[in-house]
Amino acid sequence: MINMENAIFSGPPSPEDFQRQFSDLLSGHMASSGRTAPGVAGEPIQPSEVKPDSGAFQFSHKPRNVKDYLDRFVIKQEDAKKVLSVALCDHYHHVRLAMEGRESPNYAKQNIILVGPTGVGKTYLIRKAADLIGVPFARADATKFSETGYVGADVEDMVRDLVKLADGDVKRAQYGIIYIDEIDKIGAVGNMGSRDVSGRGVQTNLLKLMEETEVPARPPNDLAGQLQAMMDFTQRGKKSPATINTKHILFIVSGAFGGLEAIVRKRKREASLGFASREIHPSGREQLLEDARTRDFIEFGFEPEFIGRLPVRVVCQSLEVDDLFLILKNAEGSIIRQYEEDFSAYGIEVLFSDEGLRRIAEKAVEEQTGARGLMTVCERVFRDIKFELPSSSVRRFVVTRPVVDNPRKELESLLADPRREERLIARGLVEEFAHRFRELHGMKISFCDAATDLLVGEALEKGKSVRDLCSERFKDFHFGLKLIAQNSGQTEFLLDVAAVENPDKVLSGWVVASYRAEPEKTP
Ligand code: ADP
Repeated sequence: MINMENAIFSGPPSPEDFQRQFSDLLSGHMASSGRTAPGVAGEPIQPSEVKPDSGAFQFSHKPRNVKDYLDRFVIKQEDAKKVLSVALCDHYHHVRLAMEGRESPNYAKQNIILVGPTGVGKTYLIRKAADLIGVPFARADATKFSETGYVGADVEDMVRDLVKLADGDVKRAQYGIIYIDEIDKIGAVGNMGSRDVSGRGVQTNLLKLMEETEVPARPPNDLAGQLQAMMDFTQRGKKSPATINTKHILFIVSGAFGGLEAIVRKRKREASLGFASREIHPSGREQLLEDARTRDFIEFGFEPEFIGRLPVRVVCQSLEVDDLFLILKNAEGSIIRQYEEDFSAYGIEVLFSDEGLRRIAEKAVEEQTGARGLMTVCERVFRDIKFELPSSSVRRFVVTRPVVDNPRKELESLLADPRREERLIARGLVEEFAHRFRELHGMKISFCDAATDLLVGEALEKGKSVRDLCSERFKDFHFGLKLIAQNSGQTEFLLDVAAVENPDKVLSGWVVASYRAEPEKTP
């Protein structure tokens, strides 16, 4: 039967809670309807794409194709992508064999520690990998566990979250991924003062999960959930599994591990004592972190058993201006796509120039929050622009370096001259036309400023693309120019206002003149 005893012994709800839970139950708003477990997730947990079919577990990926997939979204972090791809493939091949009843007795679970600063793509990597594999992925901050009184219950809530993310499919939840950030906060003996005891307690509880344990499918104090399960059973004979086994759940933990590099440096220095010739390089922080050994993590404040259950270790690099620029420009899922879509909903085309993107990246680095800085900077840059442009007649604008540096000023001048950007872009297209003309026909044409203005003005007025206008207007121009080149050897031509207004007339005048001109090279 339903474990009502548990509900009572682990602390019954107050009469008010009971009332609320009971009316929740009657109105159908159950705890299992996707509500985030209290006090667990640092941010709302996003469901990964879970395939509805819970039949046999399929897994046929190879490390390289997992990495190729990650490369599409995550810039840099080459080591992390490789190591993660290998560990995930090992794990899920093992899970597949286990599901087929061919489990290897020698397998040790490839739980992972990711060391690296905030905002460099740790969560993103794992979320994307979980999407690819099609397993549920739950994330939580370790700090939340130490803040609550009854730590064990919270740690287990993460496992129950996996079930929610797998749409109640316990079988799928049992091979999901649990990602715990800020794990360094439950170590750090020296730094945490009064949290030491609870940090160690959390480690012990997590260790149980990482090894193998059965987690009750319903939290002991979720009375509404218990009643629902009881009703399901009596009404439909449907009995939901009482527990979730954690044996095949992959655990990935991460943290910045501030201070760990000092421990590594000290160990290396001690090891080199007595070897006068072996000078220790004052290595950079990331290099030192890559050299971290089990004993360094223990000195940092982790229990040996706990760290022993996390055999795969990898360092994520911090992101520099160039990386942030590439994230904006090339990464699939870049935030600039979102801005493009937001503006296009109002019929506005936004274009990002490379120097504009680079400026955003430079400012984001100053935030020291990794790629998260990009969002902060963009939010600041676009705040007024997003408010004003949709109600203006501006249809196109370019994010240049001055826009990033002084968005308000640029916005004002844009609003004062709403077609400014379109003209700028169109002028560029006229130049591009001249450039292509040279490539196609081997003759250099260029437009004087007034001629360019005329083409741009006409295109805007007629609502036509300037590219099409130029192509139509100078469709047969190269035939005449070739004749001129044969006659006089001239291959460069400057087009003025008259040539734009009446190209045929101007061209025939030039051709006639070329017959009179002396050829450049007389035989
Ligand atoms: P953390 O390392 O703190 O877990 P996240 O993975 O949550 O950082 O990064 C926050 C967001 O920044 C991601 O959702 C992603 O959009 C972007 N991001 C971070 N690092 C990268 C990266 N290396 N490549 C592409 N995008 C990234």
